[in-house]
Amino acid sequence: MKVAVFNTKSYDREYLNRYNEQTGHILVYFEAPLNNNTVNLTQGFEGVCVFVNDILDKKTIKGLAENGIKIIALRCAGFNNVDLQAAREYNIRVVRVPAYSPQAVAEHAAALILTLNRKTHKAYNRVRENNFSLERLVGFDLYGKTVGVIGTGQIGVAFSRIMLGFGCTVIASDLYESAELKQLGVAYRSFDEVLKVSDIISLHCPLTPETYHLLDQKAFSFMKDGVMVINTSRGALINTKDAIASLKKRKLGYLGIDVYEEEEKLFFNDLSESIIQDDEISRLMTFPNVLITAHQAFFTREALEKIATTTIQNLADFEKNVPLINEISPK
Ligand code: NAD
Repeated sequence: MKVAVFNTKSYDREYLNRYNEQTGHILVYFEAPLNNNTVNLTQGFEGVCVFVNDILDKKTIKGLAENGIKIIALRCAGFNNVDLQAAREYNIRVVRVPAYSPQAVAEHAAALILTLNRKTHKAYNRVRENNFSLERLVGFDLYGKTVGVIGTGQIGVAFSRIMLGFGCTVIASDLYESAELKQLGVAYRSFDEVLKVSDIISLHCPLTPETYHLLDQKAFSFMKDGVMVINTSRGALINTKDAIASLKKRKLGYLGIDVYEEEEKLFFNDLSESIIQDDEISRLMTFPNVLITAHQAFFTREALEKIATTTIQNLADFEKNVPLINEISPK
């Protein structure tokens, strides 16, 4: 099958080519993202393969259908960027990679916590400049602290296990309770209760209309003074303006984010010689207690292998007309 692969970097090409050898799909790589401005590039293809920041709204999906696209293969788990209703309307199947490495994302969330707390990023730079002072590097023991986990699916479970290993008390909020976590001693509480009693809050729920701006001014006001908030899920779970206001008031003591509301204009690109036009991320970067990584939580060898093998398999199953186990449809 001939597939247009969008938003690709060297590592995507390397892993997809490696696992495509046996299947032999014709993969044509585009560095550009897929959206309404680039949909014309899909003429002559049967399928498209996309990532987290490609925008597959109704207009783009109509364009895909007009160009004869029959399948959209997501190289990720989240699908908030795809209008599933429009895909169904235009008879385009949608598949994803439901789990590539929950551990990778959970471990990155833990890395953000440890870095923000123990300030290893600052210590590294200091020591390289022969500054061996400990002034302003003081952290806190994770042992005994209460960690609130919002969303206990695959990543939330992996993250909770890590934090239990540090000797934290883990509480959680989800629409469904995990029997595994309850057995490990995790207590489920209401969303508001988790906000009120946690020292660290980590988001692991998907972005949906219900979770858009889940953490806003009201939610921040419920939290403990000096709370640490971690988001490795989706940027728009947090209202950035409200987070900045809470940081300025010192309500929010630490913020670690791997995702950002407006990340599609920034992340995955080297903009070191550009003038950043996004004033909110620029403001966030001025805070000494904010740590931003550019959507790299998933970025391990194991996850890249799983993304490539599952994507190639999803395309092969579609071609063979066998059931698509990783298909997603509107609710
Ligand atoms: P999952 O589907 O296994 O789990 C999501 C959980 O969130 C489910 O248990 C669900 O019931 C719960 N949930 C839904 N709405 C909720 C709400 N309002 N309040 C509390 N819980 C709610 O998904 P997962 O594999 O654990 O992934 C979680 C999210 O992580 C994905 O949706 C994606 O956005 C993000 N992600 C980020 C990266 C990255 O590199 N930063 C990589 C993979 C996934």
